[in-house]
Amino acid sequence: MPQRYAVIGNPIEHSRSPLIHQAFARQLGIDLSYEKLWAPIDGFEEAVNAFREAGGRGMNVTVPFKLEAYDLAARRSERAERALAANTLVFPESTDEPIFADNTDGVGLVNDLAFHGLKLEGKRVLILGAGGATRGVLAPLLGQNPQEILVANRNPERAYGLVEEFSDAAGECRLSGCPLEGIEDSLFDLIINATPASLTAQLPPLPDTLVGARTVAYDMAYGAEATIFMQWAEERGARQTLDGLGMLVEQAAESFSLWHGQRPDTAPVRDLLRDDIQQAAAETD
Ligand code: NDP
Repeated sequence: MPQRYAVIGNPIEHSRSPLIHQAFARQLGIDLSYEKLWAPIDGFEEAVNAFREAGGRGMNVTVPFKLEAYDLAARRSERAERALAANTLVFPESTDEPIFADNTDGVGLVNDLAFHGLKLEGKRVLILGAGGATRGVLAPLLGQNPQEILVANRNPERAYGLVEEFSDAAGECRLSGCPLEGIEDSLFDLIINATPASLTAQLPPLPDTLVGARTVAYDMAYGAEATIFMQWAEERGARQTLDGLGMLVEQAAESFSLWHGQRPDTAPVRDLLRDDIQQAAAETD
């Protein structure tokens, strides 16, 4: 019997986690099944327990259940504790043992930036958005010793709240928050769009002066083509623009390592996923 894993969410049809985990498993000769599991908004815990009782060994968790996944686990990694959210659950074989929760989103972003040769030490970083994704990546980004991280959000109170909460992890880094319209007029080395705005072709109101020849623009959203945020940065002379596909693959690789004790090579799976997304887009055109 192959080991059973799943990704749980609502909606879930769009998820490409099965493709990624099955590709990792083929690469390392591991026999597993990995399915998509839809759960009703008020039925997360029940769905998790049923999957576990049916022999499930682990789960990835996506919108809107990451906070509930964190609450459900009796043991948690430090990075899940920091994020107060979990995207990975581990079910020990014995149901007497508690569920373990981890959050691999932040390390996924940091590993993707490293994959592209980006070093954050001494750099100025701007993060747009102060939701769950920003919460998950803040501590790992601070761990890279940037000179500054500015969190800008539509509702500035959420940005201020995150800054206060993570101030103890800031060290020498200048960590501050502001409203989206209040971003200071100066160049950043890295601008991360951690809002879902690109998914509806919306662009946060940003001054042109944020981007220059040394700027890397990173959109956590991804699609068959460059997002509107990536296009905006490219038109203003950004050094490099990246989408969140690499982060998705890297966070999956971290979950996979946790479950199977082996680290897959992410490079070929990035290519596979890019091809799959482009093929799906071509078919709907
Ligand atoms: P949340 O819903 O938790 O937070 C969304 C944030 O974006 C909030 O700060 C919200 O502001 C802001 N926002 C929403 N819409 C707009 C808009 N139109 N203009 C400006 N700001 C806006 O979402 P998450 O943080 O969980 O996810 C953010 C994005 O990151 C999503 O697109 C998600 O798919 C992506 N993501 C990608 C991953 C990957 O592996 N590539 C992993 C995790 C997330 P306010 O507080 O004012 O409402």
